[in-house]
Amino acid sequence: MMAGAEAATESQASGSDDGAGGAGRKPDADAGPAKDKTSYDVVIIGGGPAGYTAGIYCSRGGYDTLLLSGILPGGQLVNTTDVENYPGFKSGIMGPDLMIDMREQCARMGTTILDHEVTNVDFRGSPLRVLTSNAEYEARAIIIATGATPKKLGLEGEQTFGGRGVSYCATCDGPFFRGQPIAVAGGGDTAMEEATFLTKFGTEVHLIHRRDELRASKAMQARAFANKKMVFHWDSEVTDIVGDENKVRRIVLRNNKTGAEDTLDVGALFVAIGHKPNTDLFEGQVELDAKKYVVLKGVGQNTSAKGVFAAGDVHDATYRQAVTAAGFGCMAALDADEYLSGDADAAGNAAD
Ligand SMILES: Cc1cc2nc3c(=O)[nH]c(=O)nc-3n(C[C@H](O)[C@H](O)[C@H](O)COP(=O)(O)OP(=O)(O)OC[C@H]3O[C@@H](n4cnc5c(N)ncnc54)[C@H](O)[C@@H]3O)c2cc1C
Repeated sequence: MMAGAEAATESQASGSDDGAGGAGRKPDADAGPAKDKTSYDVVIIGGGPAGYTAGIYCSRGGYDTLLLSGILPGGQLVNTTDVENYPGFKSGIMGPDLMIDMREQCARMGTTILDHEVTNVDFRGSPLRVLTSNAEYEARAIIIATGATPKKLGLEGEQTFGGRGVSYCATCDGPFFRGQPIAVAGGGDTAMEEATFLTKFGTEVHLIHRRDELRASKAMQARAFANKKMVFHWDSEVTDIVGDENKVRRIVLRNNKTGAEDTLDVGALFVAIGHKPNTDLFEGQVELDAKKYVVLKGVGQNTSAKGVFAAGDVHDATYRQAVTAAGFGCMAALDADEYLSGDADAAGNAAD
């Protein structure tokens, strides 16, 4: 029997205490564990594809697992509509539905899921500690799966047309806008990559940048400049997004040197001004890189703190897909298993 198997049985009839929300469906109501239970084998921080997948593997592996999903249960995919590239759904699936199904699968495997936000952590000793506004939890292993948040322009239309023409992910949504003019806001490597990728689908791709030169690397710039479908709008900012109940129809631009306004008829606006990894909480607890992504150490999903693993967009600035996040969640859970098994063996040896 694996470490934690006995304790896991206690918490198997768990669910959620709030809703993941979306598409009119609600996840199962919380039939959760004793509210005063504060000690677990594994605590997973984050309830997106990485966190739920880690929960499925940890609980199925016999570990007593708590998942704290924070203020966005389901993660980034609850803010989108059709997901066509997650395997297993031949006609695609709505993002919120996918995440509710993942959550329910995770709860069915025995993970206790609470929609509480983690406000502090202490990874310096053993057990590892995680604080929410409701309780302090102890764990033998932690999986950080807090994801990343796409940076926004701050326009009202981003909210109104999210999933209907405003997007933060070209790989995810580009194919929906085949045969239409597309706009991309940004000027760094990501924007160049996304814009160049989008030329496969758009009739033309309008790159809107607020300066008169790009921040992207010279190689990226050269690729973009050589692409005949790219149209550059320098010194320009998007000031409004206009559409109807179905989708984005046009955007309004302002030249920030002359003040002149212009409108562009486009079917979509991709905002490519970067992501902010959700790692403020982990400053000083695990090593972060210059952009504040969690740094993985050695093989697999290990971080710089013993017994602490990371999975998904919180460490991955490259792929940023639901399926890769889920894969990393699986890897983190298997790494935690190996760590905890070794831990248990060591404890057993010490007791002999
Ligand atoms: C609009 C949009 C559309 C997309 N479409 C697609 C698509 O079609 N296909 C695709 O493959 N990918 C798509 N993506 C990308 C995909 O959503 C992400 O790659 C994926 O969700 C990353 O998963 P994750 O589990 O790492 O993190 P996230 O999904 O970001 O989840 C992070 C979780 O951590 C929680 N959290 C954060 N801080 C705390 C805290 N302090 N305490 C507790 N919990 C916390 C959040 O509440 C959330 O539950 C899209 C992204 C966006 C924004």
